[in-house]
Amino acid sequence: MTRLRILLNGTVQGVGFRPFVYRTARTLGLKGYVTNDTGGVVIEVEGAKAKLDDFLLKLHTEKPPLAKIYYEERAYVEPAGYDDFRIEESISTGPPHALILPDISTCGDCTGELLDPDDRRYLYPFINCTNCGPRFTIIKGLPYDRPNTTMKDFHMCPACENEYKDPDNRRFHAQPNACPECGPNVRLVGKDGAPVTGKMDAITSLMEKITSGAIVAVKGIGGFHLICDATSNESVRLLRERKGRTEKPFAVMFRDMEQLKRYALPDVMEESLLLSPARPVVIVRKKQRTLPEVSPRLEKIGAFLPYSPLHLIILAGLENPVVATSGNISDEPIVRDNAEALDRLSQLADFIMLHNRPIHRRCDDSVVKVVGEFPQVIRRSRGHVPLPVVLPFSLDKKVLAVGAHEKNTVAIGFDNRIILSQHIGDMETPESIEYFEEVIDGLSSIYEFTPDVIVHDLHPRYSTTRWAIQQDRAEIIGVQHHYAHILSCMAENGIYDEVTGISWDGTGYGEDGTLWGGEFLACNTGGFQRRYHFRQIRLLGGEKAVREPRRIALAVLFDIFNEGALEMDIPTLRAFDRRELSLLWLAYNRNINTPVSSSVGRLFDALSSLLGILQICSYEAQAAMLVEDLYDPGVRDSYGYELNNGIIDWEPLFRDLLEDSETNKAPSRFLNTLALIALNVALLEGREKVCLSGGVFQNSPLTSLISGKLQAEGFRVFTHKNIPANDGGISLGQALYGGMNP
Ligand code: ZN
Ligand code: ZN
Ligand code: FE
Repeated sequence: MTRLRILLNGTVQGVGFRPFVYRTARTLGLKGYVTNDTGGVVIEVEGAKAKLDDFLLKLHTEKPPLAKIYYEERAYVEPAGYDDFRIEESISTGPPHALILPDISTCGDCTGELLDPDDRRYLYPFINCTNCGPRFTIIKGLPYDRPNTTMKDFHMCPACENEYKDPDNRRFHAQPNACPECGPNVRLVGKDGAPVTGKMDAITSLMEKITSGAIVAVKGIGGFHLICDATSNESVRLLRERKGRTEKPFAVMFRDMEQLKRYALPDVMEESLLLSPARPVVIVRKKQRTLPEVSPRLEKIGAFLPYSPLHLIILAGLENPVVATSGNISDEPIVRDNAEALDRLSQLADFIMLHNRPIHRRCDDSVVKVVGEFPQVIRRSRGHVPLPVVLPFSLDKKVLAVGAHEKNTVAIGFDNRIILSQHIGDMETPESIEYFEEVIDGLSSIYEFTPDVIVHDLHPRYSTTRWAIQQDRAEIIGVQHHYAHILSCMAENGIYDEVTGISWDGTGYGEDGTLWGGEFLACNTGGFQRRYHFRQIRLLGGEKAVREPRRIALAVLFDIFNEGALEMDIPTLRAFDRRELSLLWLAYNRNINTPVSSSVGRLFDALSSLLGILQICSYEAQAAMLVEDLYDPGVRDSYGYELNNGIIDWEPLFRDLLEDSETNKAPSRFLNTLALIALNVALLEGREKVCLSGGVFQNSPLTSLISGKLQAEGFRVFTHKNIPANDGGISLGQALYGGMNP
């Protein structure tokens, strides 16, 4: 017996959806209820797993013709012991404005019209209807009516007006409704802002620029993209040079699934994610030797399909797929306005395609990866935001959570919901702080929200922490980073009692002022205890060590072999010159600038340096991504480790690794060892529920190894699906804590 809670958003109200759910559940003998919520439909069904699977299938294949599901959250929770199935009264907690939907990719009907030469919207880049189009990014205020959107200044022509007023029309009350007669339009300019003139129309001319190797900036739904021909190594290298981005992978947009499959190998689940209405970037395996410049050294690429009419038109007219990456200068937020584009993107793009439908809220593309058996949202933005995480109780306080430092998101919590913001990014620049404030103001104004409490990370130097403690309008509290990760996993899975939290990531500030990241915590919603953690590694050179796996490995070697390490003939030592080595030995010996960290991310770094996989990172978590690609499920054995007084010692692991002659099996043995450690500590701890959170759990083989081992021993394991395991999910955990704890 299990209970499944499903939250659906989309056109699921007023289309006969609840009666359909009622009939289906009764036929299958399931118990529970269905209700309308201000955010959509909430279903709880209880019964045997096989019946629940049947139910889910029918939900999607047999739903009423007008019902479209844009977004679905599922959680398996403890059975509640329902005795029948009921249609319950609508819940109208929270004001109706919770109905704001995310931006939805162009629907099949609109795509058909867009490509139909006889349609009045043939090749019109702003076609949309009630089932698709922008929402979140164009809404300025509530209620959601045209005057409250950035479509306010476009007056519908009679033909559009008729559609808008006709209840039988697909465009009945479609707020962004428009056509070539009355709606927005595009134009192409050079980097100096001067219009590109000629016989061709703007879009044809843009295609021609892309084909001839140019880098172009294109205004889309939630901001600008930088676009170039993905198959032209020269163009991609030029884009890397201009963006100052040496190896970090770029996302690639493909015309359709057929074209995508010429370059990549999506499995069934990845294919359905690619085609889902949110149209996220999906991490998929690429075919060997294809698109080498797009994701250097990796076996995977971020792929996605066109989601706006403008993308559909552009891709339909091009031979090749394109790189489509966020239009920004590194570490700055995605560019939104025309003027901003001319100012900032002219440094990066040769031509800029502008349009005159203003973007009110920036929103980057979302990124999803299949981790183990489940899709996991890695960057939760367009297509997902601002849909709430619904709680089974009401929060005591209205809470604003400011998130962490990297991959920042913020969250607001009130009533029974927590709303996470779109991806804001790394908080490295004044521009990102401005964006952060813009997002907080935007969420606060649309939900008429004023916080009782503001929650921040404990790290005193995070700009988000500094921002929070300067506020004098609410109570201010700090929540430890790794505890916030586990709380976020608990909130996503509806777990509110005792759990063992395995919180592994790159870095986070611990309660003792050292850096944590390899933690086993005993948690409930009221607090946590640090029970076990990895032996600390000294970061030679502080921050610098985080970008240089060779420094991490060297510190490990110094710890194990002292000065003898300097004589070793292995890739780590060869990555330095003699002078650097003696300076680092000195620094190590005298403890100069060598903060310590218990992070699992650093273990991946040490491993990759010792094996000669990577000595200096060109982007965050690169070592972990390379190691993931090298995992071989056929390798079952592992290395040693020791447990002493709550410390997990990696010394036996690295000693075994250094003696391992089968270096191609080392990455697998390393991951197997981590899984064994997770299992054995969970057994010592004994709590039945185990939550896995932190960026390390984006690693697919590791996450499924650990889940599998724990489940085989009878543990109930909870991982992330709709909320990022990385620091993008921190704000949810913070909000839960702040909203629940007086
Ligand atoms: Zn449509
Ligand atoms: Zn019109
Ligand atoms: Fe973290």
